[in-house]
Amino acid sequence: MFANYAIIDEYLNVLSGSTEFFKFMGALNFSSILSQVSDQDAITLRAATKYVFDNNADKSLQLELLNSNGEYRSCYIMLSPQPNDFGSRTILINIYDIVQTVSDVSAMKRHMDVMQMAIDDNSLLFEFTPSNKNMHIYRCDSTNIYTVYNGNVNDWSDSVIYENRIEDEYREAFRSFIDDIKRGSRIIKTEIAFDLFGDGSIKPYIIEGGVIINNSTVEAVGGAIKYKDPTNKVDILSDFGKDFMTGVLDKRAIVKYAKDKLETRTNENITLAMLDLDYFKDVNDVLGHSKGDEVIIKFADIIRTCIGDNGAVGRFGGDEFMVVIDDIKDTLNIREFFRAIRTATETEFKSTGDNKISVTTSIGIAPLDNIDGEPTYENMFKTADYCLYMAKEYGRNRYVIYDDRSKKNFRVDGSTAQNKYTKASRKNKFMLSMTELLFSQGIPSIPEVIKNVADQMGLDNVNIYYGKKPELMFHFGIQSPEKLSSDYIFEDDYLSNFNENSMYALSNSASIGMRMPKAYSYLKEQNIYSCVQFLIKDDKTEDIIGLLSYEVSFAPGKYWHDDEMNMLGIISQIMAQILKREKPL
Ligand code: GH3
Ligand code: MG
Repeated sequence: MFANYAIIDEYLNVLSGSTEFFKFMGALNFSSILSQVSDQDAITLRAATKYVFDNNADKSLQLELLNSNGEYRSCYIMLSPQPNDFGSRTILINIYDIVQTVSDVSAMKRHMDVMQMAIDDNSLLFEFTPSNKNMHIYRCDSTNIYTVYNGNVNDWSDSVIYENRIEDEYREAFRSFIDDIKRGSRIIKTEIAFDLFGDGSIKPYIIEGGVIINNSTVEAVGGAIKYKDPTNKVDILSDFGKDFMTGVLDKRAIVKYAKDKLETRTNENITLAMLDLDYFKDVNDVLGHSKGDEVIIKFADIIRTCIGDNGAVGRFGGDEFMVVIDDIKDTLNIREFFRAIRTATETEFKSTGDNKISVTTSIGIAPLDNIDGEPTYENMFKTADYCLYMAKEYGRNRYVIYDDRSKKNFRVDGSTAQNKYTKASRKNKFMLSMTELLFSQGIPSIPEVIKNVADQMGLDNVNIYYGKKPELMFHFGIQSPEKLSSDYIFEDDYLSNFNENSMYALSNSASIGMRMPKAYSYLKEQNIYSCVQFLIKDDKTEDIIGLLSYEVSFAPGKYWHDDEMNMLGIISQIMAQILKREKPL
């Protein structure tokens, strides 16, 4: 979740936006965001929003947006379907001004820290905008913003103080908190017991924050409001932790649940499973979206009923659910739970005379005592997710439990997984964590980032060359670094491959063998069958001062999807900016 976001409707009209958004765009003298992009980008943006509505899935892209200073800024955009109460279709658009954000790394880092604090602790965020005295108290995840209060700060504090939402002994602390945010204190830290939700219950909160965004004209003040009683972490937001449509936990809450269970466990009997409906897109296509919604709701009910008090279920996104079972002793027991869910789903949605379409589910299951490596949430999730992938591969309508048999088949083959089983929201999450890592740690984080990118996309080598005469600076992969060099990019015929964004995607190097024999022999020497590459150029002279190269070393190479190129594009731009800033030539 970036600070710069807005909600837009089907015509790309802006319905609402964050402080940062209005700062970026200026006062809105346009209604449709389309007027802020070039004609070419307008087509791309329209197609992307259509995709989000049609598939109810996230989409990310990169385009140039006109900001309030009349400059076109290269932005990374994430579009997510945004449920609302009115039955209309809206999208949450996250905007991410690459250069701007990179140039203000420390402010971004502070912001990230605050966000992280809030996300980790499942608490609320507050954001105060001095220019219009607006106080926004909310919580957000990748698709939803849950607003507790959004309005004039004085109205809010009056209501807390004069409507008996606070004990006498905390009034003073509350007043100074309000003073602090109005004055723009660098550090805000206080403890106040009050009725935050206006529901009649006074609870203790820890409030932390300060000036989080520094800009020459506007400063915003923000931070996190955390529930103080650690024994009751999830409860504070019980209403906010629910998935809008199905009433089961939402993604944030189920992940939290899983992590808490793993951390406080007394035995090894926890099981985590991922469930996904099979060919669910067909249900939408044939029976329509609202019938599709009914199926998802019913499916959630089936899971909830089968799990009972033995654990928790949460909607991970779309037709995908996560289940945590607190305490199952053996595989036989595990099978019983998931067989029940599988058969109940099959029976519930059997095709009959009226109902032309049948629905089944595939399930991937990770029992804690079977998984490889550390018993972390990440490992559990990864294992369950790949078992789900295998269940799909094996023909669907089945479950795969991670055990010795599946271990043998357990293929963590990036390219296979990438092509057949990608979920946009997962990619966005990955992007967020990588950009955050880069922002918070700069150059030292690059080795980890390129390793993660290689893992995520099934790449064999990621190489970064940098300098007036670019030399290998970072390398990850199977190729021996001694054999690597970026000299070949300076061959005229090779350079001509790069487009106006300094990018080149090659699926199969054999294809250029005839046209560019010299470049081809260089690629062959370095074992590059397929690659996406970005040139780093000096801002003033336009001289090439670096190359980022993402490579596949084995035939038949790799077809690069738009999404993958987008992802590599943004990560490359950030790394290039960080290199230029922290290691100027
Ligand atoms: P697979 O067997 O590989 O899972 O095939 P699938 O068609 O189910 O593919 P996938 O799980 O990737 O697609 C899920 C689809 O669910 C994408 C989107 O069209 C649809 N979807 C996601 N959220 C909702 C929703 O809230 N309501 C409805 N009706 N459809 C949704
Ligand atoms: Mg599915």
